[in-house]
Amino acid sequence: MTTKIRYYSTNRNLTDTPGITPFKGYVSFRDALLKGQAPDEGLFMPDTIPVISLDDVMELKGEAYPASAMLVAKAFLYDDISSDELKEIVEASYNFTVPLERVVDRKYVMRLDQGPTASFKDFAARMMARLMSHFRDKGKMLNVLVATSGDTGSAVGEAFKGVPGIDVNILYPRDEVSGRQKKQLDTIGDNVQAISVEGKFDDCQNLVKQAFSDPSLDYLNLTSANSINFGRILPQIIYYVYSYAQLAEKGEGIVLSVPSGNFGNALGCEYARRMGIPVKKLVMPTNENDEFPEYLKAGRYEKVSPSRACLSNAMNVGHPSNLARFFDLYGGTVDRLGTVYVYPDIDAMRKRIFSVGVSDGVTKKTIKSAYDKYGVILEPHGAVGWRGLEIYIEEYGDFPLCVSLETAHPAKFPDEIEELLDIISELPQSMKDVDKRVGEPLELSGDYRKFREYLQDNLRTKSS
Ligand SMILES: *Cc1c(COP(=O)(O)O)cnc(C)c1O
Repeated sequence: MTTKIRYYSTNRNLTDTPGITPFKGYVSFRDALLKGQAPDEGLFMPDTIPVISLDDVMELKGEAYPASAMLVAKAFLYDDISSDELKEIVEASYNFTVPLERVVDRKYVMRLDQGPTASFKDFAARMMARLMSHFRDKGKMLNVLVATSGDTGSAVGEAFKGVPGIDVNILYPRDEVSGRQKKQLDTIGDNVQAISVEGKFDDCQNLVKQAFSDPSLDYLNLTSANSINFGRILPQIIYYVYSYAQLAEKGEGIVLSVPSGNFGNALGCEYARRMGIPVKKLVMPTNENDEFPEYLKAGRYEKVSPSRACLSNAMNVGHPSNLARFFDLYGGTVDRLGTVYVYPDIDAMRKRIFSVGVSDGVTKKTIKSAYDKYGVILEPHGAVGWRGLEIYIEEYGDFPLCVSLETAHPAKFPDEIEELLDIISELPQSMKDVDKRVGEPLELSGDYRKFREYLQDNLRTKSS
């Protein structure tokens, strides 16, 4: 008889550290999902990683994506939710295609860009939203607050749209989002309200943080849907299992390349390996924010601060939030500010993980060369991934089965694609429809009292 998986905090060992009271307990999946973060500001980690059998994995060959989602999610949640309910959740979450595009030989690009916001973040956000709806206190409304500087907010907003029992407020900085991002956020509608804040991203984040720590708002049942929630990591394990099942012979190795910023996506691959997928190497290319490849090279971790503005803008991260989870899996401890308390087993890490920084210049060259040589259209994030794979092969020799992830749709980068390839990439239908939508945001100053007043006057507490 297996026991239920419990979740602990990455900060649990930080006794005698000023400002931190380590959380030494365990919580259920439900609590990890609804709380988002441990009380000591650490990240929740499963205390056991379930193993799936390769026989079961190979059964997924030729099956649609939700079948892979079931196998992975069931392995973690067998004791938390019934199969029927889980099936409903994964089928509603994954109602779009996951193309595996052959580039050359048995090297593929997996396109995670067919969801409603044409970003891989749709995969995690859509499943997390439905899990939250399932696990919330019935009868009570769950009120999600998100601060966003752009793309994450729309992925989260779209993911929660129409999901029962949950209302969402998304705060964005008025002058820092592009015209298209603003349109995308303002017009989601239904149970999702956009709030345009006079100020910067940090101001939005401060408003949200203050609301979370304000006891006078406890009755509103506020929660976050941020990227460190384990509920967003779990869905990011699935596509690695899916691609292996579709492309591999049972038991053969696979090299996976994951363009990385906050390392949540790559962490999904690390878990997939620990669950039993024969990942020969996890390639984690970054853009010029190369604190991690530098660490693997030199053995000393130093965050990049301030972070560098690169073309692959969703990866402009100087200290990846999920590094704390990677360190923990390899026996180390780092906090959210980038202070290392215990270094992980770097030899074990180097054996499993290869990382390299890819400059903007090389990113552009790769977009061009991938198109000229193979006719494959990549946008900047996917190009960082592909170039990372090429560098891995140059240094370690060829490997038969390789998959590189494309995390956004090329049409989201029309200027770069036109400049480099002289073509116009068509937006997926979901994104074209955005232009026809209407909707206005609520406008607020950065003043917390006004924000609190808005929340008290407008948020619903009861759900049917
Ligand atoms: C968020 C994002 C990434 C980085 O993923 P992490 O999980 O933060 O490493 C890469 N590409 C795109 C398009 C993204 O939106």
